Amino acid sequence: MWPLFALVLGLVVGSFLNVVIHRLPKGESIAYPPSRCPACGHRLGALDLVPVLSYLLLRGRCRYCGGPISPRYPLVEALTGGLFLLAALFFPPGVEAFLVFLFLAFLVALAFVDLDTFELPDPLTYGLLFLGLLASWALAFPLPFRESLDGALLAAGGLGLVAGYGNLFLRRFREPKPEVPVGPHQVHMAALFGALLGPGVGMALAFLSWALSGRTGRPVVLPDRLTLPLWPFALLLAPTLGLDLLENLKGSLLAAGGLALAGGLYWAFRPLPEEEEEPVAMGYGDVKLLGALGAWLGPYAFLALFLGVFAGALVGLLLRQRKLPFGPYLALGGVVAFFFGEAIFGAYLRLLGF
Ligand SMILES: [Zn+2]
Repeated sequence: MWPLFALVLGLVVGSFLNVVIHRLPKGESIAYPPSRCPACGHRLGALDLVPVLSYLLLRGRCRYCGGPISPRYPLVEALTGGLFLLAALFFPPGVEAFLVFLFLAFLVALAFVDLDTFELPDPLTYGLLFLGLLASWALAFPLPFRESLDGALLAAGGLGLVAGYGNLFLRRFREPKPEVPVGPHQVHMAALFGALLGPGVGMALAFLSWALSGRTGRPVVLPDRLTLPLWPFALLLAPTLGLDLLENLKGSLLAAGGLALAGGLYWAFRPLPEEEEEPVAMGYGDVKLLGALGAWLGPYAFLALFLGVFAGALVGLLLRQRKLPFGPYLALGGVVAFFFGEAIFGAYLRLLGF
């Protein structure tokens, strides 16, 4: 009965996610007004809202105007239903299973919003992040709190640095305009200082730069052309500082992740003024999403990243498209890593002969 219940719940939640995916990027209310046919505007009745079935019975057409309805709607419902069913096979009925349902619902919404708009809205990325941290803090599920927090910071810091280097090479070492009071510059500074002085001091110095930039209204930062090329050398200094390389890397990424997620949260509440779009290798939306996955997956967030890059590259090659949203692939990697991460990692270790 439990898997069947999960499937039906997933179909209903998927129907709600269609509304979220459609309305959240436009800043419209999710609760009101009730759903309408996008073609004729007729309000949809209870019968039209039965997931998947109503679409099949009406053969993909609106009951009122006969206009075609996108197969996206039943697809999102069926996908959510399938994912909830999968979760029910892993988790018995209880609070934990419902947390996993929420995790999956957030990822479905994020994936499809990104497909539509090339954006990952802050309410969804930070919602997923704080839900993961809160669940870990209150229930030690899916991870002990310490692992959840470290996972979020390491994942966000790691991808934030990848984005920084990507941007640096893409712009051929031309310095990007620093964002005041906080932006990627402070993330890179936190990584550098974190590698030299440990995560606490690294973060404190980057926050000091943030505060000074805010106070003076001008960027008080070190240039990316300095911080990013120096970072690998700072890591290699680890043995002379009495650290091992891995510990040093961890401290550096923790500091960078702290700045990336705190800075993102600042901008979430103070939206960017309209500016000309600059070409960037990767938006910070992906950094925040991977940070959120880190809160749920711990170190397995890096497996999610690897799977996401792999799947995205594959689809990019198949579709011969250069600009693809990365969110859907990260979300897919997150789901696979959540359910099968340990199995995949175990298989990998056996392959290496451990
Ligand atoms: Zn209609």
